Amino acid sequence: MLAVMFKEPGTVAVEQIALPQLAAGGLVVRTGYVGVCGSDVRTWRHGNARLAGPQVLGHEVSGTVAASDVEAYPVGTQVAVCPGVPCMRCDQCQRARHNLCPNRRVLAYDFPGGMAEQFAVPADAVLAGCVVPLPDGLSLRSATLAEPLHTVLSGQERGEIGPLDSVLVLGLGPIGTLHAAAARSRGAAPVLGVDLLAQRVASAAAVLGDGAVELLGDDPAALKARGGPRGWDVVVLANGAPQAVELAMSVVAPCGRILAFAGMPAAKAQVPIDLNRVHYQQISIVGAFAGTPRHFRDAIGWLSRAQIDLDQLVTGQLPLDHALDAFAQIERGEGLKTMLRVG
Ligand SMILES: [Zn+2]
Ligand SMILES: [Zn+2]
Repeated sequence: MLAVMFKEPGTVAVEQIALPQLAAGGLVVRTGYVGVCGSDVRTWRHGNARLAGPQVLGHEVSGTVAASDVEAYPVGTQVAVCPGVPCMRCDQCQRARHNLCPNRRVLAYDFPGGMAEQFAVPADAVLAGCVVPLPDGLSLRSATLAEPLHTVLSGQERGEIGPLDSVLVLGLGPIGTLHAAAARSRGAAPVLGVDLLAQRVASAAAVLGDGAVELLGDDPAALKARGGPRGWDVVVLANGAPQAVELAMSVVAPCGRILAFAGMPAAKAQVPIDLNRVHYQQISIVGAFAGTPRHFRDAIGWLSRAQIDLDQLVTGQLPLDHALDAFAQIERGEGLKTMLRVG
């Protein structure tokens, strides 16, 4: 079968490999769609510490069960798969922090991913609740959005985003756009997304509406006032720019939360923080990373009831053998989400 293989930093190849085998207690899924993530592009260019050698990429996957050793998922079931597989035995898993499980195995890193005609789901992924059947009416294409969305839902839970909170999202890639949409669905208002790139603002506006997004200006005081008399209750860092932290500190309201959602380049991750503001104004800086199988299930439910046009989020769609064109599109910052169509 055809698969998109990471070979070594700088080299990704579309090539023929053997079909996956059905393992005891596992599934084989015929891939429907697979989302291309910014992290795939970074792996292509720079490799990834988790990858010691060649691997099939693709962690944002949906498809149809083609072979099954699990009664609950008969052949023909349409599914999406949460890529992070927690061990369910360690202390973090026992405390429901499955995303922080030190033994967590991840699709496309620790076992072959979904940028292929088929992929295997191991038994531990089934047992951990990573396989979610699609509700009627949710397309395979939209279901691949569950992966980025489940990290967003996990982060918003951490940030305790609630009704009438004002929420500012810094960065309007697919993740920032989903943050704005998810905050709105939790009752937050106003919700505003900003970005420095006009093309990102335009793509996000097609999803969220014109009033919900704008180009980031150079007047933090004016931006702060938009969040309410004392500023924004929640500021989501949905981009990896260290300057965003300073901006967030200058616009967040007393008792507000800054959600540290994006990884930063390691050399730039140390940023100065005014601890007096943190102390006297009770500012919280909340970390949020990845998500759990429970958030993944919630994400599938959210998508099936989505109040936004999911098709507007998917701005590019290419066949599997054009994967490198898709990677290049994302590297150029074009559009929001690019998918590979497989089935
Ligand atoms: Zn991703
Ligand atoms: Zn664990």
